[in-house]
Amino acid sequence: MNTIERYIKNRYIAFFFGCIIVIGILQGSFLKLVELVPSFSPLLFPTLTIFLLVFHLFIACFMSMKYWCDRRRLYLVAIASAFTGSMLLMTGTLSSFPAWLDLYQFDIVNYNDAMIFFTFRHLLMAVLIIFAALLYMVRDYPLSRLTHISIIIAIFIFTACMVVLAWLFSGHSSVLTIDLVDNETRQFMVLWSHLINILLIILWLVALVTLIAITRLRNLFWVGGTFLSLCYIVTLGMLFFGGHAEDIAWYRARLFETAATLLIILVLLYDVFNLYRDSHLKYQQSYQNSIRDPLTRLYNRSYFYDALNQSLATAKATRPVSVIVSDLDRFKRINDCYGHLQGDKVLQFVANLLMDSVRPQDIAARIGGEEFVLMLANTDSDAARQVAERIRLNLSSFDKSSSNGQLPEPITISMGVFTATSSQITAEECVESADKAMYEAKETGRNRVVVFQ
Ligand code: GH3
Ligand code: MG
Ligand code: MG
Repeated sequence: MNTIERYIKNRYIAFFFGCIIVIGILQGSFLKLVELVPSFSPLLFPTLTIFLLVFHLFIACFMSMKYWCDRRRLYLVAIASAFTGSMLLMTGTLSSFPAWLDLYQFDIVNYNDAMIFFTFRHLLMAVLIIFAALLYMVRDYPLSRLTHISIIIAIFIFTACMVVLAWLFSGHSSVLTIDLVDNETRQFMVLWSHLINILLIILWLVALVTLIAITRLRNLFWVGGTFLSLCYIVTLGMLFFGGHAEDIAWYRARLFETAATLLIILVLLYDVFNLYRDSHLKYQQSYQNSIRDPLTRLYNRSYFYDALNQSLATAKATRPVSVIVSDLDRFKRINDCYGHLQGDKVLQFVANLLMDSVRPQDIAARIGGEEFVLMLANTDSDAARQVAERIRLNLSSFDKSSSNGQLPEPITISMGVFTATSSQITAEECVESADKAMYEAKETGRNRVVVFQ
């Protein structure tokens, strides 16, 4: 078995045990609740339904926004539609329990209507989730614009049909009728308990298998979806073994579904957090790449000029800005004698030395092949000269062994210092003046610091 297969197998096992633990905790919590509360308030069911409705609205909005960000992910439309339809059907469920809003309707509960909306809700969600998995399978297959729009329209029509059919079958309309629960005795009818309940369990089993087979639980998003399908199977299983609309199973099923949906929301939020973290990291990396020189990791020319311009804007006699231009002495010889690769190592060594020699608020940049520049904010000419002198002496003190072989032989540097004491001067003029001082250092024997007069 290769590594990928083993990895996928481990993922399935982790999912299986994870589900057992979570479902066990939910079940245990419910049993504890039953122990503490001997009989539930009839308002618990509509209250949980309101929670569930809000959760489904949240998931529907979340999926729609995700699709909005990446229109190629058509499967998100199917999922968004499943949760939107579910949310609409839950408003139907709430209308069967008018007591949640109107106190004088306390005794009027239409259990049959509640079951009709419940049935259509599961039918709608299971079918659309299977469809979403199929769309996920063909996500890399380029669809024409017409096919894309047609699929979206088909999803909307299917969702609308389910909602309208549920409404037509419910007590709100006399066009169609179906008896799933006896409103007098509150017993489930045979049609529900011997057929629809079982068919819905089978449908969710198909959804579960399809999700696992197609998505291979490759990320947290699909793990969440698969877990929800499993929870629906458990929920329907609870109803299968309870025979009564006010049976404890009825409350347990709703409580279970609400808790499972809350878990899904947490998973989605975690997913968003992960995406945010990844994209932030990528942004940081690409931003750093755009402002730094790839060889030495010092700032690049354009970043240096931007930073210098910013500092010069507030430069004055009491807040001087110093610029030090440095050029390695006889560097071409290093390349010629030891090769370009060794030359690069020397550049990296000098870059690190420069970086370590200045304060965090200063800027060290590479503005040419072996030309470096430092910007020292709030530093007068004398202090800048001292910094340059310290760097020059420090560099010249290294040889091959003390530099761990990074310098093939001792190397020296020539440096020019210029200090701006007013905001009238431009960054280019600053660098030009420091450059002139550096050339003077070259002309007067190299390995020295010259301050621009
Ligand atoms: P001087 O003391 O007058 O500055 O002499 P020099 O040899 O240092 O001056 P010159 O400007 O003639 O040579 C600079 C050399 O830097 C030429 C080029 O081969 C080398 N160089 C420029 N960029 C790189 C680089 O990225 N890597 C390496 N290894 N060498 C580079
Ligand atoms: Mg040089
Ligand atoms: Mg040069």
